[in-house]
Amino acid sequence: MLHNRGPLLTVNVGEQTTAKEDITEIHRRYIGGRGVGTRLAHEHTPVDADPLGPENRLVFTTGPMQASTMSFTGRMNATGVSPLTDGLLSSNAGGFMSRNFADTGYGAVEVVGESDTLVVVHVRDDGVKFEPVPELEGTTVTETTTYLEDKHDITPDQTAIIGPAGENEVRFASLMTSEERAFGRGGLGAVLGSKNVKALTFDGDSSPDIEIPKTQMEIHREAATDDHIMKRQGTVAVMDLANEVDGLPSYYFSEQQFEGVEGINGAAVEEKKYKKGTCSQCAFACKLPTKDEDAGVETEGPEFEVAMAFGSNSGVDDIVEVMKSNELCDQFGMDAISAGNTVAAYLAAEDEFGNVGLIHDLVKKIAYREKEGDLLAEGIDRIHDELGVENWSVKGMDFAAHEGRVLNGQGLSYAVSNRGADHMYATFYSVEYPLVPKEDALDPKGTLGKADELVHRENLMALNDSGIICKFSRDYMTSERYEALFDADFEDLLEVGARIVTLERHFNNQRGFDRSDDETLPYDLPDFQQALDEYYDARGWDDGVVPDDALPADCKSTSA
Ligand code: SF4
Repeated sequence: MLHNRGPLLTVNVGEQTTAKEDITEIHRRYIGGRGVGTRLAHEHTPVDADPLGPENRLVFTTGPMQASTMSFTGRMNATGVSPLTDGLLSSNAGGFMSRNFADTGYGAVEVVGESDTLVVVHVRDDGVKFEPVPELEGTTVTETTTYLEDKHDITPDQTAIIGPAGENEVRFASLMTSEERAFGRGGLGAVLGSKNVKALTFDGDSSPDIEIPKTQMEIHREAATDDHIMKRQGTVAVMDLANEVDGLPSYYFSEQQFEGVEGINGAAVEEKKYKKGTCSQCAFACKLPTKDEDAGVETEGPEFEVAMAFGSNSGVDDIVEVMKSNELCDQFGMDAISAGNTVAAYLAAEDEFGNVGLIHDLVKKIAYREKEGDLLAEGIDRIHDELGVENWSVKGMDFAAHEGRVLNGQGLSYAVSNRGADHMYATFYSVEYPLVPKEDALDPKGTLGKADELVHRENLMALNDSGIICKFSRDYMTSERYEALFDADFEDLLEVGARIVTLERHFNNQRGFDRSDDETLPYDLPDFQQALDEYYDARGWDDGVVPDDALPADCKSTSA
């Protein structure tokens, strides 16, 4: 089976020490990316670790496909205990960092401890340097990027940076790379902030020598020549359809259609797009560099999720205002989905939907934890009572845009996902929207009989996250192509995905997660309890808990 290479580098930022460890066997069993990050965290991170304490570990990983020139591979992974969900979580970012990371020669870089002063950690193939940077305290992502370029000639594509939101431990702070690309969901930026690390930089000339099968070229060619609507409109292309099927969360989830959809849909974003945008090596190029000169806004996106959170869910029907919110989140280093939904919760509480001045003000206040921003920085799950609004989150993670009340299998996925109400964990929506080709489509209504497909999709997404292959490759990746690329049976590859999901669940079980945490959807789904039973049966879990004999053979003991 094709897998990544290179040792683990552990960086203790408190002691300013480093250690190398051979992880060849872990690479063999978990391929790379999320698989290796999860396996390392399961072994190394204490199960009672405070997400914002020195014992939490933030693991960066790439996969073997980052040695290729294939489209859909410009991504990398970060794993840690999330301050938002309190569970083990992986987050995936596009951009150009993955190849620079691979150039260091390390298969994984794990950050632990807590520095006394704010530092930048420079990881090179010939060593690690710790640079005290007290002068960068409170700086935005662009200010930090400019500092690194001016002082060290380090490009934005070589960096993982936090903004003020990460420093201030906002629970949904993101890690930013290439200025506008985010390891967004779950607050891993706050984990780096809690360690007093402003940025990591990666460089070298030691990328592993991995031979990639020719199949990569076919996929690359198809991605380059296809006339896919996502190439023009990114993920926001789906917004009109979502609205049509009563599936566009609006006004803090109280409505499912938005009368101002034309102001924030795919066509509105396309109108503001001024050039092609992509990730490293990717000819699909679905990113959305946008600007509005009159308003002085330049950003990337918004994608569908952000157009929902800061648009329909906040009662805003002007794409330029949503672009502005998106730009602020990138500058301050915050997950724009969580920030938008949390702002929408506040707007619901104050009856202020559509007040764009207030929205932009709140984004800044959250990042710096000023006034009401300090409360909102805790996320919806922790503050909904105080605001007097419904708790629109699962396991602390607020909702993505694809509407589980309409796409019931996606709703089930939100309920059971190890990282809460996030759409990319299984991308179940992709088989439930009416536009899916008939032979693959599922009836969006109902939850029964969907467990096997949900398990399959969770395992497949875990495999993608380990490869690492972007999930928007779905129209181009067949089981035969996975087999050719990874030199393994498809079933064996899905088994790797299953091991990853099981390890995440097992780690979270030890932190107290069980069936009750899968029962927290804020709406009813048909036959929900029976569907949960079907899902646990398909996984071999007891009421949401991984039995000891279901643990992967290499993981019988943990760091409990
Ligand atoms: S499909 Fe889009 S998000 Fe995925 S790697 Fe390519 S450009 Fe990046």
